[in-house]
Amino acid sequence: MLRYITADYVFPISSPPLKNGVIAVDNNGTIVEVRSQKSEVRSQDIQEFKGIICPGFINTHCHLELSHLKGAIPEKAGMAGFIKNILAKRPGYTHTQVLEAIIYAEQEMINNGIVAVGDISNDESTFEQKSKSYLKYHTFFEVFDLNPSHAQDTFEEALKLQAKLRSISPSVQSSIVPHAPYSVSFELFKLICDHASKNNSIISYHNQESLSESELLINKNGAIAELFAAMGINPDYIPKTGLNSLRSTLINFSRNNKTLLVHNTYTSKEDILWAKNYFTGNLQLTTDNLFWCFCPNANLYIENKLPDYSAFIDTRANCTIGTDSLASNHSLSVLDELKVITKYAPYITLETLLTWATLNGAAFLGFDKELGSIEKGKKPGLNLISNVDLGKVQLTNGSKIKKLF
Ligand SMILES: [Zn+2]
Repeated sequence: MLRYITADYVFPISSPPLKNGVIAVDNNGTIVEVRSQKSEVRSQDIQEFKGIICPGFINTHCHLELSHLKGAIPEKAGMAGFIKNILAKRPGYTHTQVLEAIIYAEQEMINNGIVAVGDISNDESTFEQKSKSYLKYHTFFEVFDLNPSHAQDTFEEALKLQAKLRSISPSVQSSIVPHAPYSVSFELFKLICDHASKNNSIISYHNQESLSESELLINKNGAIAELFAAMGINPDYIPKTGLNSLRSTLINFSRNNKTLLVHNTYTSKEDILWAKNYFTGNLQLTTDNLFWCFCPNANLYIENKLPDYSAFIDTRANCTIGTDSLASNHSLSVLDELKVITKYAPYITLETLLTWATLNGAAFLGFDKELGSIEKGKKPGLNLISNVDLGKVQLTNGSKIKKLF
């Protein structure tokens, strides 16, 4: 049986927003047709909603396995303080507490209209939940180690973990990725990049989340350098590149691998243009494989600073949205992230924000055949956002989400 639904606005994402547009959807959530006017639909049975309807959200950056740390890490301690607290607090929980928090956090994402997740894993604690397929996942096996002589062993551990996920859950996509520019040796980067090139896998890592990571790579000083010294890490392991963390690291990767840079809190317009140029090179491509993920609530939580969104708008960068983990956020809600961006950068249109939160994320993760836009034949999930400023067509502080499909 078909259901016809309408709202003040329908945002198909793959085409412009439709005022009072109508969606025909079948029982299992597949889109049968999208119409621009109610009068075009013969059925008398149209369900009307107040607000806007958009596709299910794609959360491109999460660490589900850190969910048990909700509320445990002090806010605004800076990146070095955050890392120190995570290392100290992460082990102090039972296996059951970790698993229960994962189940609860996944349900929170479902309730918040998220349909797919790019999830970082250091261990196997999320595998069982992922195998239940309540959400679609791409798992990023994140590796880090600055000691060059550990590179081979560290990489092989990640391969073993990946094999284990595949044995439990063959349908969950995955790839092996670096943690960040400041926590991976050149030798380990090389293993990751060679493997990604051979397997055509997608890459994601934390980029320019703090100023101290660039200070470390340019001059070997700053808060992360001090933390590493206190941890007893051999300073010879830290490469002095003389370049900021983006420019030190991205050159390890091939433009043929789709790459998602996460956070970008200290990324300048010149950095974006440099990275775009690196990814298109002399091919002069009009689109590139490079994506930029924003997690504004985590940025406020850790560094109390937000990216310069206007630089990404001006350079027409491919942006996506992530929630990061409950260790650095109060909720796992893409809508909450969009509300923060709306508050600090109200010049960004709702259509642009929703494109970041849906189709761009689906395209990066390779889920765009089914998800990311309201188009005939897709099964994207449907979200109703209420309490929207319909005059400005903008989210408000009080905007709320309800999952329709
Ligand atoms: Zn993260």
